[in-house]
Amino acid sequence: MDFSLNPKQLEIKNLAREFAEREFPKISKKCDQEEVFDFELIKKASEVGLNGIFIDKAYGGAGYGYLENALVMEEYWRVDPGLGGALTCVYFGSEMILLFGSEDQKKNYLTPLCKGEAISAVAVTEPDAGSDVLAVSTQAEKIGDEYIINGSKMFISNGTIANFYITLCLTKPDAASRHERHSVIVIEANRPGIQRDKLRGKMGVRAHDTARISFNEVRVPRENLIGEEGNGFHYFMAFFNRSRAYVAAQGVGVAQGALELAIQFIKKKKRKTIRKNLAQYHIAQHKLGEMATWVETARNLVYKAAWYVDRGKIDPALISMSKWYAGEVGVKVVSEALQLHEEYGGLGEFDISRFYRDAKIVEIYEGTKEIEKMVIARQFFKGD
Ligand SMILES: Cc1cc2nc3c(=O)[nH]c(=O)nc-3n(C[C@H](O)[C@H](O)[C@H](O)COP(=O)(O)OP(=O)(O)OC[C@H]3O[C@@H](n4cnc5c(N)ncnc54)[C@H](O)[C@@H]3O)c2cc1C
Repeated sequence: MDFSLNPKQLEIKNLAREFAEREFPKISKKCDQEEVFDFELIKKASEVGLNGIFIDKAYGGAGYGYLENALVMEEYWRVDPGLGGALTCVYFGSEMILLFGSEDQKKNYLTPLCKGEAISAVAVTEPDAGSDVLAVSTQAEKIGDEYIINGSKMFISNGTIANFYITLCLTKPDAASRHERHSVIVIEANRPGIQRDKLRGKMGVRAHDTARISFNEVRVPRENLIGEEGNGFHYFMAFFNRSRAYVAAQGVGVAQGALELAIQFIKKKKRKTIRKNLAQYHIAQHKLGEMATWVETARNLVYKAAWYVDRGKIDPALISMSKWYAGEVGVKVVSEALQLHEEYGGLGEFDISRFYRDAKIVEIYEGTKEIEKMVIARQFFKGD
């Protein structure tokens, strides 16, 4: 058994670290406080080969796997979760086009994403359908050569900046099985009848655009259907079994970033005052020891799950373990890091207070932690 990353993986991890350390701090505060994304950043990431990490080279991607995408995610989130999330979300949902799209769809949609000339979004959540994906009611009615779409989607990442939405729609409401009622349809953002409302004042990841989208009699051609009609639920499950494997790395990244801030803070403080209070110094050491262990265990779980995905071994329970655990470690480590900062953290040292706001989202999107635990436990009741 070999736990080390191979030279290519180390190269991409280092590239992402250098890129984030060089580019993010220049714009972090502005993007968080003004809740805006920096489009130049996408171009810069594309130029250095950090866009479309898991998309095949044939469509302009980097041609790596999901583990490499997780490594990039981890390094970005270590420096800035808001910008990191936004930047890797530029090609969000492309998994479904890669796995189930036609050759034309791959060329049309994936190539501009990889060049940094387009942004995708995944639209599944609705005001009355979050964890229960099967409750999605946005309807796509087939009339002639078109689908007519009506409904609304909620909390859509890249909602106001995306060029197209990879959307879960209800196409066969009367199908006997609930699992055969939905389809995945690409809806271009410039079609008449689409309204996009940016959601402002989120607790965290504020550089990451989030919106409510309404579709009112939106017409799309039939060739925008991904794969086969009625398979939408299964395509989304296949997507989550890949996206969760790298979204989990966000928890590792934010925890690692917070751990490093806490270490820096304690080192500075040790020099000045902490030596006079040895008990306090020992408590800080205990906390740092625990935090480092949590980060390392989460990292190992995340890498293992993504490594298996890249080898075609899709293990939903393992993927959910990594997503739940790393998300919880992110929240826990950031909280302890803030505690070690004492009153200074509370007084708003930018990075640590922002990490505290940003970490929570990993326990919510791409499956809440409660849902992840249900997926893990499901294996024990198969056939019952
Ligand atoms: C910043 C942000 C970005 C997002 N980006 C996207 C995006 O790009 N695309 C998209 O489609 N969605 C996106 N979402 C939506 C996100 O995926 C949902 O918020 C999430 O799936 C939970 O759905 P919900 O908010 O409707 O909560 P609900 O599903 O109503 O859940 C509320 C609570 O009940 C719990 N719960 C629900 N069902 C069960 C159950 N069966 N058993 C036990 N507990 C349960 C949940 O765990 C949760 O704690 C985003 C959300 C946020 C906040």
